[in-house]
Amino acid sequence: MRLALALLTLPLLHAQDARLNTLLKDILIFDAHIDTPRYFLDEGYKLDEPHSYYELDLPRLRQGHAGAVLFGIYAQPQDFQPFEWLPRSLEVLDALHQEVQRNAAQIEFAYSAGDIARIRNSGKIAALASLEGGHLFAGSQRVLRNFYRLGIRYVTLAHFRNSAYADSMTDERKHGGLSPHGRDLIREMNRMGMMVDVSHISDEAVLDAVRTSASPVIASHSSVKAIAPIPRNMPDEIIRAVASKGGVICINFHAGYLNEAAYNVYIGNRPKRDAEIKAAGKNWEQVRRIQRRYFDLMPPVNVKELLRHIDHVAKLAGPDHVALGSDFDGISGMVPRGMEDVSKYPVLVKGLMDMGYNDAGIRKIMGTNLVRVMRENERRAAQ
Ligand SMILES: [Zn+2]
Repeated sequence: MRLALALLTLPLLHAQDARLNTLLKDILIFDAHIDTPRYFLDEGYKLDEPHSYYELDLPRLRQGHAGAVLFGIYAQPQDFQPFEWLPRSLEVLDALHQEVQRNAAQIEFAYSAGDIARIRNSGKIAALASLEGGHLFAGSQRVLRNFYRLGIRYVTLAHFRNSAYADSMTDERKHGGLSPHGRDLIREMNRMGMMVDVSHISDEAVLDAVRTSASPVIASHSSVKAIAPIPRNMPDEIIRAVASKGGVICINFHAGYLNEAAYNVYIGNRPKRDAEIKAAGKNWEQVRRIQRRYFDLMPPVNVKELLRHIDHVAKLAGPDHVALGSDFDGISGMVPRGMEDVSKYPVLVKGLMDMGYNDAGIRKIMGTNLVRVMRENERRAAQ
């Protein structure tokens, strides 16, 4: 019946639709940065249930043909006391492991590039983990090695504030790039095969990291400053430096990072918004309502603008050096129109087709570039 239907409708499909469907059958869609795990812990958010809020659950991952997700584990230095950073990270990571285990028929934890391929071949989605911010492992490489054992496959050297390892791009200049501890840390990460993430750190720190790291580095969720000149984005020369070492820039989907006008409205309202959110406490529904109200004040940003950022890096550094780092569930619902959640990844595949990308280029951008960098980090660690 299914086959008969397919045969009947096939000739009617536009050639581009047929090409899209063929690609979607086996393309690896791999997102480098999604922040859902804290919701598992704080709100009892269930991975297997369909939701009308937040940006990821298993039904929507399936709908979006997602193959692998690198989940972010974090405790923002400005939101938690220093003594809470380590236990909080371990608790969020445990919540991720528990949710993955509870849905073992659909999703499985991956510890290597080889695992991703094996898990996908078994028809499941691969889940991986990352740690956002060098403040989280208490300055101890022993703690970091334990995080590696628990599945952490990249570490962002600093978050919104400077860490002992690196200057943040959103804090004052302190180390002038990386500290000597930061360089030591990178050598240890290289030794383990844990990827170095240069999102959030200052331009000087990125250049230091690229110089220090023997393996290619990633920017797990960063967009393009030449298009949207806002503090969190990367200038062209920094993008080129990451690419020159074989690394990838994974484009952030935050509407305010894609478009400067949207950013200005977001930043202008932020103190008021954050105060309201703080007052709402653990009333998550209320928090979401506040986020939605402030999001609606921002000028709409279309998914085409996201495609422009991807295209800019592909043109500047080559299609081997761009990937996806949506930051879904870490951007307070500030998503582009047409790219509201993980079910929409095929829109990007279609968009890249329409922009003239060939299948090989699209496959790289949507996932295999990131796998290549992961594999290269593993290979060098094994040497
Ligand atoms: Zn971030």
